[in-house]
Amino acid sequence: MKGDGDLVLIAGGGPVGLLCAWLLGRRGMRVRLFDNNTGLQADPRAATTHPATLELLAEDALAEDMARVGLVAPIFQFWDRPSGELVAQFDHALLKDDTPYPYVVQCEQFKTAKLILDRVGKMPNVEVLFEHEVIDVAQADRSVAIEVRAADGIKTHVGGYLIGADGGRSVVRKQCEIPFEGFTWPERFIVLTTPHDFEAERGYCYRSYFADPGAWCNCFKVSADGPPGLWRTVFPASSEQPEAEIMSDAGVQARIQSFFPAPKAYDIVHRNLYVTHQRVAATFRKGRVLLAGDAAHVNNPIGGMGLNGGIQDAANLVEKLAQVVLDQGPDQLLDLYSRQRRAVAVDFVQEQSIANKKRLEARDPELRRRNLDELREIAADKNRARQFLLRTSMIASQRRVAAMTINTV
Ligand SMILES: Cc1cc2nc3c(=O)[nH]c(=O)nc-3n(C[C@H](O)[C@H](O)[C@H](O)COP(=O)(O)OP(=O)(O)OC[C@H]3O[C@@H](n4cnc5c(N)ncnc54)[C@H](O)[C@@H]3O)c2cc1C
Repeated sequence: MKGDGDLVLIAGGGPVGLLCAWLLGRRGMRVRLFDNNTGLQADPRAATTHPATLELLAEDALAEDMARVGLVAPIFQFWDRPSGELVAQFDHALLKDDTPYPYVVQCEQFKTAKLILDRVGKMPNVEVLFEHEVIDVAQADRSVAIEVRAADGIKTHVGGYLIGADGGRSVVRKQCEIPFEGFTWPERFIVLTTPHDFEAERGYCYRSYFADPGAWCNCFKVSADGPPGLWRTVFPASSEQPEAEIMSDAGVQARIQSFFPAPKAYDIVHRNLYVTHQRVAATFRKGRVLLAGDAAHVNNPIGGMGLNGGIQDAANLVEKLAQVVLDQGPDQLLDLYSRQRRAVAVDFVQEQSIANKKRLEARDPELRRRNLDELREIAADKNRARQFLLRTSMIASQRRVAAMTINTV
């Protein structure tokens, strides 16, 4: 048996677990993180990092490093796919008095994770163990014990607290019998990555959303290995279509051509298919176990809010856990963490991400017209556009939960 009460154990070395480890380490706490993979995963998932999240990544200029290895995107657009019309364009510059970061940064999540891992590697108080799978969790009054499987067998590690940042299928959440409430979308989401330059060819900005009756597309640019970068397109894929057909060369060409007709075949450098859920854990805290990131909440990627929520969890949790462990702060701070972050997940991220999807895929011509007219009107009115941006950039939800205290019910 290894470890003791002042050690924080973390399950999961995705961006959220690593961020928790780094921020706790910077506050002088001892941390041991376990991840079942051999190293960081480079699959094409999150990239969009919103202003409210960048504000939380200011320590040691992490946000600036992300902008350096990623792309700065001040503008996003809504397009009507059938007519080809640019419906609305929003410029984060309207938030210049609200945030020091009036733009989003498109930084692939494995690059963010790498920037954090490099920093963690310099900390003697933080251990990161890849190829270590957390398989069991048991709590006592003053400690939490986990069983971890590695090449040399199964070992028990004991700490004062455990952070479950082990993704949507979280073993920690399941071991603690915390319900994961919500639903799964019947359609899958397909990500197709291409070097096709949508800006030069079609005038799309680095983040563009497309409405189409019964369908939609997110199209955004990432810096990849450097200029000229790559474009990722995300589409729904019917549950009735066999996976082999969806993922075939003919299937991916048909899908991307149906949205963005081009005279020759697209060069597709990655294709990935995801099952997508809208779920939130019933609580983010059970005794000495705290959930963060996808382990606590998952949502569809339209609006790019999943990892943003996870990063915000990490910053909120670390601040409170450090107060409890280092400054003998009240234990209820950890309940406040759960209430604050659950409120953002339920009242904001779930609601907004579902509404974003419904707005883009609306079939009824009258509803479509109203949806698109509303976007046009908001974009044309500076005050309404600023309010809209405060919500999409997640500043409004951060401000709202900041007003909650340990006495807020
Ligand atoms: C197509 C797509 C696009 C997206 N775009 C965006 C976007 O633009 N913006 C945004 O904010 N979000 C986006 N998201 C969501 C984002 O990818 C996730 O929210 C993010 O990965 C969550 O990070 P995490 O660290 O919580 O979990 P993960 O990244 O899933 O990391 C969990 C880690 O835990 C490890 N693990 C799992 N089980 C165990 C175990 N038992 N023991 C040890 N380790 C374990 C896993 O191997 C993994 O390394 C997108 C998602 C998809 C699918």
